[in-house]
Amino acid sequence: MDVIRSEQAGFLASDVEALKRSISNNLRYRSGKIPLTATRGDWLLAAELAVRNRLVERWMRSNRAYYEQNSKLVYYLSMEFLIGRTFHNALQALDISEDMQEALKELSVDMEEVSNHEPDAALGNGGLGRLAACFLDSMATLNLPNIGYGIRYEYGMFKQEILDGYQVETPDYWLLTRGNPWEFPRPEVQFHVRYGGHIRQEGGRARWVDTHSVLAMAYDTIIPGYGTECATTLRLWSAKAASEINLSDFNQGNYSSAVESKNMSENVTRILYPDDSTLHGRELRLRQEYFFVSASVQDMIRRHQLNYSSFDDLADNISIHLNDTHPVLAVPELMRILVDEQGLRWDHAWSLTQRIFSYTNHTLMSEALETWPIDMMGRVLPRHLMIIFDINNEFLSRTAEKFGNDTELMRRISLIDEAGERRVRMAYLAVVASHKINGVSKLHSELMKQSIFADFAKIFPERFMNITNGITPRRWVSQANPLLSQLIDGYIGKNWRTDFEQLSQVEPLGSEERFITAFRSIKRQNKQRLARWVRNNVNVNLNLDSLFDVHIKRIHEYKRQLLNVLHVITRYNRIVANPEVNWVPRSVIFAGKAASAYQMAKDIIKLINDVAVKVNNDPNVGDKLKVVFIPNYGVSLAEMIIPAADLSQQISTAGTEASGTGNMKLAVNGALTIGTLDGANIEIMEKVGADNIFIFGNTSEQIEDLRLSYQPREIYEKNPELKMALDQIRDGFFSPGDPGRFRPIYDSLINYGDRYLLLADYESYVATQEQVDALYRQSLRWDRKAIHNIANMGYFSSDRSISEYAQEIWGSVPIQF
Ligand SMILES: *Cc1c(COP(=O)(O)O)cnc(C)c1O
Repeated sequence: MDVIRSEQAGFLASDVEALKRSISNNLRYRSGKIPLTATRGDWLLAAELAVRNRLVERWMRSNRAYYEQNSKLVYYLSMEFLIGRTFHNALQALDISEDMQEALKELSVDMEEVSNHEPDAALGNGGLGRLAACFLDSMATLNLPNIGYGIRYEYGMFKQEILDGYQVETPDYWLLTRGNPWEFPRPEVQFHVRYGGHIRQEGGRARWVDTHSVLAMAYDTIIPGYGTECATTLRLWSAKAASEINLSDFNQGNYSSAVESKNMSENVTRILYPDDSTLHGRELRLRQEYFFVSASVQDMIRRHQLNYSSFDDLADNISIHLNDTHPVLAVPELMRILVDEQGLRWDHAWSLTQRIFSYTNHTLMSEALETWPIDMMGRVLPRHLMIIFDINNEFLSRTAEKFGNDTELMRRISLIDEAGERRVRMAYLAVVASHKINGVSKLHSELMKQSIFADFAKIFPERFMNITNGITPRRWVSQANPLLSQLIDGYIGKNWRTDFEQLSQVEPLGSEERFITAFRSIKRQNKQRLARWVRNNVNVNLNLDSLFDVHIKRIHEYKRQLLNVLHVITRYNRIVANPEVNWVPRSVIFAGKAASAYQMAKDIIKLINDVAVKVNNDPNVGDKLKVVFIPNYGVSLAEMIIPAADLSQQISTAGTEASGTGNMKLAVNGALTIGTLDGANIEIMEKVGADNIFIFGNTSEQIEDLRLSYQPREIYEKNPELKMALDQIRDGFFSPGDPGRFRPIYDSLINYGDRYLLLADYESYVATQEQVDALYRQSLRWDRKAIHNIANMGYFSSDRSISEYAQEIWGSVPIQF
C-alpha cells in the first residue's frame, strides 16, 4: 500500500511520480499483480486506493476539527443515497484529475477506459436518493459537520434490461463483483437492533423484553468537499445475524436450519425496495426502516455520551433531519432511549426531540404517504407503538385545549387513522415531532399547507417552510460536461463550481460569436458521444443535426411519458401524411425504470419501444424522427445523456411533481425546457424568463377545477389527431402481432378517468412542440436562449439549498480549518 512516503508531515504528495508509485504499490501489495497480469479492474482498484488514501488524510483532520471545535452535528437520515460513481468525483475534489490521468498514461493505462469499469452505487430509486447525494456533497463543500446515515443494501436498484421491448429486472450485484474499495468496514461499531417481544412495567418504567435482535454493523464512506480540506462521512448499516449459525443445529446435521435463521436476520439489508412514490405494505420494509434509524440513534447517543455527562445540551449539539418519512421511527426510538434507558422524564425528552428533528416532505400523493397497520407495528415494535400512542394522546389533548374539543378535527389530525384497519400515519408523526417541515419547491410547499397538512399548518404555522431543491455543480456540470466547463472557465474562471450564481457572468457571452460557436460545437460533441453509445448499445443511428429531445426520469403515470408518446405518434402521423414537408428532425430519447410491480408503467415502456420499432423502420420517416429507449437509467447514464440534450421534457401534471431536479440538471447544461407549471419548473421560469422556456398546459389550480367535471372521452372525440393516435394504440397499430396489447393504456385514459389529465394538456403540448420546432430552425436564437438558461440557473445549486437548511432549520455553522 501507500506506505512509502517521500513527503513531509505525513501527507501523501499528489504529483505524477507519487501517484505512479502509489498505484504500482497498490497493484503489487493489494492485488498481488504485476502490470503484465493486471486486468482493468486491478488497475482501477489500484488507482482508487491511491485516491482514497489521499482523502483519508483530509477526513482525519476534519473529524479532529469537529471535536476540537465542539461543532453542532447534523445527522441526515435517508433511506436512499444515489451516489453513482466515486472515482472522478474524488479526483475532482483533490484536484488531481490531470495528474492521475498522466500517471496512468505513463503506466500505459487509459483512465477513461478503466474508470468506466466502476459500478454505480445505486442505493436509491430516483430523485429523493439523488438529492441526498447532492446534499452530502454540498454539506462537505460548505464545511458543515454532518454524518449521513443510511442502509448498505447488498443489492441496490435493480438493473433494467430491455428484452423485446419489455423491461426485465435483474439484480445489481454491485458489492459482490469487486467489493467496494471506497468503504471502510467498522466491525468495532455494532449495535443490537431489537424486534418483537413485549412490554413489562417495572417500577414505573417500561421494559421491552423477550426481543430478538439483529446486529447492525457500520461501513463508512468518505464524502470529500470540493475546494476545501473538509471531508465528511456517510455511514451505512449492514445487518449481521446476532448469533452466527446455530451450532447445535449444525452439529446435528440440520445445515439448512442452521443457516436459515442467519439469513433471515441478514435479509433486512439485502434489497432496496424498487419503488418510487408508491407505498408497499411489506413488513420487511418496516424492519428496514427501524433497523437503520435504531442503529443511527444509538450511535448518536454513544457519541454524545463520549463528550457529555447529561442530555441537557443534546438539542444544541445535534440536529436530525428526516429525508421523507422513511426514517421517522427515529422519533419514538430517541424517546425510548432517553426515557426507558437513560431515565429522562417524558416531558424533557419530548422537548429535546422536538428541537432536534426536522422533516422534508417529498410528495403529496396519497398512495405515497406511509402508514403502517397498528397490528403489524405492535408485533414488530410494541414499545414504539406505545410511545406513538402516548405522543398522540398528548398532542390531541394539547390541541383540544387550544382549539376546543372538535372531534372531527381530532379524527383528522390523529396520528392513528381509525377508518377501517387502524394505521399509524407516519407523515403526521413527522410533523408533530419536528420544529421545521419543509417542502421542496415554492408550489409544493404551498400545496402541502393547503392539502395533506392543512390542519397542521393552522396548529403549527411557524413550522412550515420552503427550501427549493438544488443540484451539485461539481457532478452535474463540472464532471458531466467537462467541455462546457472548460469553455466557461476560460471566460469567467473556475469559481462558479462553489459559487454557482457566478454563472450570471455567462449572460453577456450569449451575444459573442466566438462563445456561441464554441457552445454549439460542444453541444455537438456531447451529442456525438451519446450517439456513439446509442449506436453501440441500442443499435439506432441518431442524426447529429436532429433536435435531441430528452425525457429521462422514473417511469410513472404522473410524469406523463405517455403524453410525450402521444406527441411522438402525432408527429409520426403528420410526417407520413406529408413526407415532402421540411420537418425539423427529432431524436426522442427516453430512459427510466418502472417499479417492478407497476404494470401500467411497464406497459408504457413497451409502448415506447413498439412505437420506436415502427417509427425507426419506416422508410417514409428516415432521419426526420427517431425514438430511442436507453436501458438502465442511472447516475452515470444521466451524466452522459444530459449534456447532449437540446430539449428537456418536464411535463408532469401540474401539482404532482414536488420539485424535480432533472429539470435543473438539463437546463444548466444548455437544454431548453418544455414543461408544465409544476414543481421547480415555475421557479426555473422565474429565473430564465417566460420567453426562454416552453410552458404549456393547465396550472395546478385549473387542474383542481377540471377534476370536478373531467370528461376525457369528449376531448378524444373532438380532436381527430388525438383520436387517431389513441385508436392506433388501442387497435394494435404498433403491436400488430398482439393487437390488444395496449388496450389497458387506452382504457386508462378514455374509460377510467385519465387520472393525470393527459388529454386536457394534449392540444397545448402539441402546439408548444410546434413552437419548439420553429425556434430550432433559427439556430442562433435557440443557442442564445440555451446560453441564457445556463447563465440564470445559478440559484439551483444544492449549496444554496443546504445553506438555507443550515441557517433556517439546523442552526449549524461551518468548521474552521
Ligand atoms: C436527477 C435524477 C433523478 C431525478 O429526476 P427527475 O427528473 O427530477 O425525476 C432520477 N434519477 C437519476 C439517476 C437522477 O440523476
